[in-house]
Amino acid sequence: MATAKDFDNPVRPTWCSGCGNYAIWNGVKRALAQAGLEPHQVMLVGGIGCSSKLPDYTRANGFTSLHGRPIPIAHGIKLANHDLTVIVSAGDGDTYGLGLSHLINALRRNAGLTIMVHNNRIYGLTKGQYSPTSPVGFRTKTSPAGSLDAPINPIALALAVGGTFVARAFSGDLAHLVDVLTRAFTHRGCALVDILQPCVTFNPGFSYDYYRPRVYRLEEAGHDPTDFAAAWRLAQSEWGERVPIGVFRQVQQPTYEERLPVLSAGGPLVKQMRLWDEAAYARLREKFI
Ligand code: SF4
Repeated sequence: MATAKDFDNPVRPTWCSGCGNYAIWNGVKRALAQAGLEPHQVMLVGGIGCSSKLPDYTRANGFTSLHGRPIPIAHGIKLANHDLTVIVSAGDGDTYGLGLSHLINALRRNAGLTIMVHNNRIYGLTKGQYSPTSPVGFRTKTSPAGSLDAPINPIALALAVGGTFVARAFSGDLAHLVDVLTRAFTHRGCALVDILQPCVTFNPGFSYDYYRPRVYRLEEAGHDPTDFAAAWRLAQSEWGERVPIGVFRQVQQPTYEERLPVLSAGGPLVKQMRLWDEAAYARLREKFI
């Protein structure tokens, strides 16, 4: 059985010292091992941004896509081989800005993906512009007079479109993050994990010290993740001074892949040899590799 170390590769991260992405990276490796997965069973898909470098630093299958587009690419991969555990590693800009419609569609289809959002409430890689989760009045280089936009509420949004696994975690609470990610990786269907991730360089206002006294664990507060009304109430009423982390909702419903007859009857497409043209593949390989 793999350990977290088995997901190490020799590439060293270029993240700023103290960045919340380090804990997420460690959390992912530990959760993958805890979920009983081996590197060859995992596909990590990034978009563009600091968050999306995580696949480069992890020993597993990986794909770097376009800004805002990791979700449809991840779902394409899942449809080609639904035996893989497919995980999107993207930021709040990628997921709640450019790729928002992809998130909504993946959730309402219950696509077999985990969508991990490193939510630092700013565009970090491009050096500090307000993002879809920045608060109103937030001053950045692109909003010198303060952002006019109301921020997205990712938890309420995911609940509203029928998300079967909707969670929030905090990169300053590694043990809890590992637990939430393990549950997400083993969930059958689409899992959204919104992770509060301090960007120490461009968004020091939302730091570890800001979040630590505010977060509390839903599991310790007795929240029942099958109770939609309770999840909705929490998502709408608690933010700012009191921030719940944990699984808001988890229910079991048929996944998109299970509802597709060609997959449910025949197994993963990559193993259905009648769809596989060895000669065409050899020509493609010759051309592109
Ligand atoms: Fe992390 Fe922000 Fe640095 Fe990017 S810019 S690596 S998010 S601290």
